[in-house]
Amino acid sequence: MNSPPHSWPVIGHAWAIHLLAQALNSGRVAHAYLFTGPEGIGKTTLARAFAQALLCREDTAPCQVCSTCRRVQAGHHPDVWVVEPERGLLRVEQVREVVREASRRPVEATYRVFILTHLEQAHPAAANALLKTLEEPSPRTVLVLTASAQDVILPTLVSRCQTLALRPVPEATLVQALGERGVDPTRARVLARLSGGRPGHALRMMEDAHFWQRRDEAFNLVRTFAESSSRWIRLEAAEQYARQEPETLAEALELLLSIYRDVLVWQAGQSDAIRHVDKEAEIAQLADLLSQEAVRTMAQRIAHVLGQVRTPINVRLALDVLFLHAPSAKTP
Ligand SMILES: [Zn+2]
Repeated sequence: MNSPPHSWPVIGHAWAIHLLAQALNSGRVAHAYLFTGPEGIGKTTLARAFAQALLCREDTAPCQVCSTCRRVQAGHHPDVWVVEPERGLLRVEQVREVVREASRRPVEATYRVFILTHLEQAHPAAANALLKTLEEPSPRTVLVLTASAQDVILPTLVSRCQTLALRPVPEATLVQALGERGVDPTRARVLARLSGGRPGHALRMMEDAHFWQRRDEAFNLVRTFAESSSRWIRLEAAEQYARQEPETLAEALELLLSIYRDVLVWQAGQSDAIRHVDKEAEIAQLADLLSQEAVRTMAQRIAHVLGQVRTPINVRLALDVLFLHAPSAKTP
């Protein structure tokens, strides 16, 4: 007897858990799965939980307490492999290792599970190597691939997998899950809305000890800009922001963007839809002070700068892919 869905350590996606648990119960586990959805939606979390469910021998699998469940969770189980791209690229050597390992018998469990994440970052040769394992599946091996979307990976790969498209988790589900982790209801609503229904994103903000302080600083900055047109203040703020690491800077800019968007939403008369639900008075005030046109332009400018802040990483990825595709002499 396997897994009542609620024992899976996953926020939301009940339908997907149900489907996987059913496959397990009826002994009809597919050879390969593809979980798609945006970053932070819970693809790898679901994949790990599925691996636990496949391997755990307790009646309540995945029980979360047995040695198997705990080792899978910690990434220490010899029959569960999680393979992630290195510096933005899933390389053919990484997949070849999976192919080799996939042909072996389980070390101690009944299945071997291979979780390959971010398949959209797979080099074509890596995707092709993977295709071979999918064409000649070895019994007792389950592959779980994750990707941002279905159409960014090789169609021949997709056709050999059972695809589960994960959608944003409803606000109420996220609020409840955050509440169970000790977040007060109002803050839980803010995190749920800011995350756009992505549990991974919400949990990251929750675990960030300085998140609320940084949000206050972002609100202060927006208010300072609104109340003073001093060039000196603005350039000093720019200097402070420029000192941050790209990742922290991106988060700070995202916070600013979320505030300006809330102001726009308020100005459009949709006050119920703002994300910073605990800052109504402040957003109403800003909506009063600023012109809609100026706020919209600022939001667009922040989005543009955000793209540039993230560029350095993408340049490397673009060059990797570009040069890996450079033509070589034809093989006879
Ligand atoms: Zn267990």
